[in-house]
Amino acid sequence: MKTSKAPIIGIDLGTTNSLVSFTKKGSPRIIPNERGSRTTPSVVSIKPDGTEIIGEMARNQAVLNASHTVANVKLDMGTDQTRILNNRKYLPEEVSGLILARLKENAEIYLGQDIEEAVITVPAYFDDNQRRATMQAAAMAGIEVKKLLNEPTAAALAYGLGGKRPDSKMLVLDLGGGTLDITLMEYKDKAFRVKAVGGSTSIGGLNFDKKIVDHILADFNNTHSFDLSGDNVAYQQLVIQAEKAKVDLSSVDETTIMIPYITMSDNGPLHLNMTISRQIFEELIQPIMADIKQIIQAAFNKCGLGPEWVDSIIMVGGSSRIPAIETMILDIVDPERKRVDSEELIKKAINQDEAVARGAAIMAGILAGEIDDIEFHDITSHELGILNHEGEFEVLVPGASIYPMETTRLFTTAHDNQEEVVIEVMQKRGAENLQLVSLGNFSLTVTKGQKKGVPDIDVTFGIDLNELLTVSALDLDTQENAEIKINYALNLQSV
Ligand code: AMP
Repeated sequence: MKTSKAPIIGIDLGTTNSLVSFTKKGSPRIIPNERGSRTTPSVVSIKPDGTEIIGEMARNQAVLNASHTVANVKLDMGTDQTRILNNRKYLPEEVSGLILARLKENAEIYLGQDIEEAVITVPAYFDDNQRRATMQAAAMAGIEVKKLLNEPTAAALAYGLGGKRPDSKMLVLDLGGGTLDITLMEYKDKAFRVKAVGGSTSIGGLNFDKKIVDHILADFNNTHSFDLSGDNVAYQQLVIQAEKAKVDLSSVDETTIMIPYITMSDNGPLHLNMTISRQIFEELIQPIMADIKQIIQAAFNKCGLGPEWVDSIIMVGGSSRIPAIETMILDIVDPERKRVDSEELIKKAINQDEAVARGAAIMAGILAGEIDDIEFHDITSHELGILNHEGEFEVLVPGASIYPMETTRLFTTAHDNQEEVVIEVMQKRGAENLQLVSLGNFSLTVTKGQKKGVPDIDVTFGIDLNELLTVSALDLDTQENAEIKINYALNLQSV
């Protein structure tokens, strides 16, 4: 049945680039921005007159207007690191909020409908603070978050892993412009579970560009005895051309960087004309590749699994198109190339920039009831329980429980003549850094004049599909009951 209800959009709020998507007739689509591009740089600039510039225009003027431009704000989410733009302080969530508002607006123009709801992707390692900041950014943009979806889970959904497909053991490599995320993840019993995460916020495409830039600077210096790094305009041109050359080298063996009149020397204008082969590029990036390899191995070590455990490698992020990356991953996972031809092992058929956004759209489609042949559950990331009469934490919902779920336990009073019991709902966070946090409390009246231990009180914890936690207490003698509803979405991580 066709409905006129506005779709739930999917948003990949990335460090370098962001995308917005939706589901049409059960398949995910990327929404182009006002310039017709499918990706929007996650860059914000405020002009002196207060005009907000977001996306490609903000990125293009970033060099000239660096002090009024914010890039990579995702790396600061969950911190109070403010940036000053046009004499006003902005928190990371406010900057992200501006990006989200623009993405929402693009979707509204494209779809011709007001949009209210979205699935937003976040890195699997985002903690509560970072997730909360993302929710706040969405609220500022007038978006109701239907779900924060882990990026590797989104990428897996885009590849059709999960749902009715058999179990999978995945290595997700997300190598973007400035960040590397490695996730070892399993899909089993209809739930995605993260086994280990690893990565770096200082490894990405920019580092590859820099290697080419440094190589050219040295070569130019050798040939012309001229240091181009002292000439700002020349240097910027070089950075732009180096990135283009790097992208070329993912599909050709050799490319030429040519910049006529790149600078002026005492003897007249100088021109840059240099050929770089893929082989030289691969030699230049050797140290970065060694770091990436180490990070992947550390992730395996963390969860005690070996590379042979992996049955699907999912490659996302623009930089994962570099052929040497694929070679390196295969060297780790399938050194003898026994499995590489199976087509099943390496997943890279979906545009690497778009896989996460497509997965977000699929999740939006599932939530909207448009896609019904995929079923997957979330699991809780923390233990949930209550404080008993001695003030000790009693677990009712162990960590990694699959929900929707419901569980009940019998409790009683701690004192004679007790007239009410207070149910303090607690969660225990963190495997290493244990922290007990109260999520709220409520009280239940019990029949007067009873000795301690006599009343029978059922306490029930239930988590529904929408991540709403309901805790109720029922006096079995009087049928008196009370409950509290806690929107637990922030504290549940879909893994
Ligand atoms: P992302 O953050 O996922 O949008 O990735 C952006 C990064 O991917 C930039 O550093 C791009 O230069 C890089 N990139 C995009 N396409 C390619 C390609 N074909 N080969 C190598 N790097 C690429």
